[in-house]
Amino acid sequence: MSEPLYLQVTPNLNLEPCGGCNQCSLRCANDVPFSQNEWAHVVQYLTNLNETERELVRRVEIQDKTVDLGDSVQVEMCRFFNMQNDHCMIYPVRPLMCRFMGHVEWMPCPINLVQRTIPTSEALQVMEAYAREDRRESSGWLQGKE
Ligand code: SF4
Ligand code: SF4
Repeated sequence: MSEPLYLQVTPNLNLEPCGGCNQCSLRCANDVPFSQNEWAHVVQYLTNLNETERELVRRVEIQDKTVDLGDSVQVEMCRFFNMQNDHCMIYPVRPLMCRFMGHVEWMPCPINLVQRTIPTSEALQVMEAYAREDRRESSGWLQGKE
């Protein structure tokens, strides 16, 4: 399994302001894409969990993920988003788009706490390579495997 592209930008993420913050959790919608390589790392991560941890992920995966925003607007959250505490169940292997949220110029932190974003030229270079990969939502990778 090759290294995922997100490793190129991860050292430059300014995650300090994000500790304990969930103000952008609504961006964890269910259409977040995973490249094939990222998905392989998720599968590996889940495989390596102990039974208690795996059971917790299973319970999170079957939660009702609907969030009612009012005015008849509803969003469906990511299958790995824990609706009870707003935590990501696969945080160490979350895909590139999740790492970019709040940390690139074009997806800024909604509460302006992240002052130092990834340099745009660097982020775009990674995006160009990423765009060439096969990317699907989790349901796309899971199709036929559940
Ligand atoms: S990007 Fe901003 S809103 Fe999101 S977790 Fe970090 S500090 Fe909080
Ligand atoms: S993988 Fe984690 S960070 Fe990314 S959308 Fe899903 S819950 Fe949010």
